[in-house]
Amino acid sequence: MSSFPATRLRRLRRTGALRDLVRETDVSIDDLVMPLFVAPDALPNERLPALSRHTVDGLVREVEELVRVGVGSVILFGIPEDKDEEGSGAWIEDGIVQQALRALRPRFPELLLITDVCLCEYTSHGHCGVIREGEVDNDASVELLARTAVSHVEAGADVVAPSDMMDGRVAAIREHLPQTPIVAYSAKYASAFYGPFREAAGSAPSFGDRRGYQMDPGNLREALRECELDAAEGADMLMIKPALPYLDVLRAVRDRFDLPVGAYNVSGEYAMVKAAAAAGDLDERGAALESLTAIKRAGADVIFTYWAKDFASWF
Ligand SMILES: [Zn+2]
Repeated sequence: MSSFPATRLRRLRRTGALRDLVRETDVSIDDLVMPLFVAPDALPNERLPALSRHTVDGLVREVEELVRVGVGSVILFGIPEDKDEEGSGAWIEDGIVQQALRALRPRFPELLLITDVCLCEYTSHGHCGVIREGEVDNDASVELLARTAVSHVEAGADVVAPSDMMDGRVAAIREHLPQTPIVAYSAKYASAFYGPFREAAGSAPSFGDRRGYQMDPGNLREALRECELDAAEGADMLMIKPALPYLDVLRAVRDRFDLPVGAYNVSGEYAMVKAAAAAGDLDERGAALESLTAIKRAGADVIFTYWAKDFASWF
């Protein structure tokens, strides 16, 4: 093996063209999915613009802009008018996400419409499943999640993404939707980095927390087991959430599985950079690009990120 002084790694770093030529990992707008929130009433968020709520009409305008700058995929989250114990707003025919899908589908035939499938935005208690005897009942919830996924596809969704972390939900959805791609939130951790999302989605649990179904941050082997189950149940893509605090999990999943792997660069990761940038401590554009590059380098094929829109206009 050659060594210094014959070998000088700085030779390939000298100019921008050289660096561009030999870069191992590049992020493209084609890899990014923009999360969007739709609700009966708009709720702008000045500090964290990507976490604003849109009405259906406002959403159509926002998507027009996204498509114009080059964003090709979005994931929809709904905040319903009324919540109930079961979360029926998740699957009813005129639910908020179903309305949004019916408005977007004919207007943007090329746009990839992904929907988040969960009950927490729709239940009065804010948990991701139904409560029976004080606990989130897995099997009863799975049926309702499958019903929700079917209603999304009927309204125009291309892809469904169950985020609830109930056991067996991918199999239940697959049984009803043999043709629809499923992006499974396979390893979704009970994370402190979801704060701004919960505000935007109005989905904070009214009692307890989600540690009874989301994963413990200390576990990596368990993430591989979750991925294995979801792949066996018919998932087309595995997802790790959050992204930056779990890059080791992402790498382990990438190495073990041949399915496409996604990562969710969550609201807290976005908010930290936004806050530091607002304080003058960080350059948002540089920190965002570096974050997305790190997530991709760790193994993500697809990144769900609040920076998708900005990324498209920046680069
Ligand atoms: Zn949920």
